[in-house]
Amino acid sequence: MNDWNIQSRSRLCHGCDNGFEDQQIYHSLLFSQKGTYERQDVCKTCWKGQFSDTSGAAKGFISHWQGRYQSPPPPPPEAIRKDTAETLLRKLSEKKLPHYAGALYILAVMLERKRVLKVRGQVREKGQRIFIYEQAKTGDVFTIAEPDLSVEKLGRIQHDVAELMENGLPHELESENEDPARPKQGTNASNAQVISGEINQEKEETHAEA
Ligand SMILES: [Zn+2]
Repeated sequence: MNDWNIQSRSRLCHGCDNGFEDQQIYHSLLFSQKGTYERQDVCKTCWKGQFSDTSGAAKGFISHWQGRYQSPPPPPPEAIRKDTAETLLRKLSEKKLPHYAGALYILAVMLERKRVLKVRGQVREKGQRIFIYEQAKTGDVFTIAEPDLSVEKLGRIQHDVAELMENGLPHELESENEDPARPKQGTNASNAQVISGEINQEKEETHAEA
């Protein structure tokens, strides 16, 4: 017998090929055939006509249940934006691109507002403030430096963020592992990193409860 696998609900009745409508009752039948399970979803009519008056054994199915069909919801735009911001944050964190230090920070703040990230602490390094962010669900930790947000830089940073959200990382950066502009040995330039899992938290707590 094969391992159990996931078989998602069909959009069509296996008996008559009619599409299920939202909130329609359907019947699921599980067959065991040649060492695998096969799921069939049928409408009420087909269930009554073909299956309900016979025993499962006669028709060969080993399990049966009834459900209510729910049309797949349209993709939630908010969730997509969240994912995009988080995906970008991860990419920028991994690539440690000095040019995007500002954008990285802004993305982190956006994700914090959406409660995707939590501030777990902050440290000072060479006069620069470093925030420790934790991804609320996965526990991944990001350390992200507070950039120079002076007025003349802020314009460029906002432009970078808008550009990233619209188009993602520029192609040449997406495919590279190393940023050629980055100094070989870590300097102030490498001000972002991802640490998976737990960290020691002897840092001062910040943003106690927003
Ligand atoms: Zn049917």
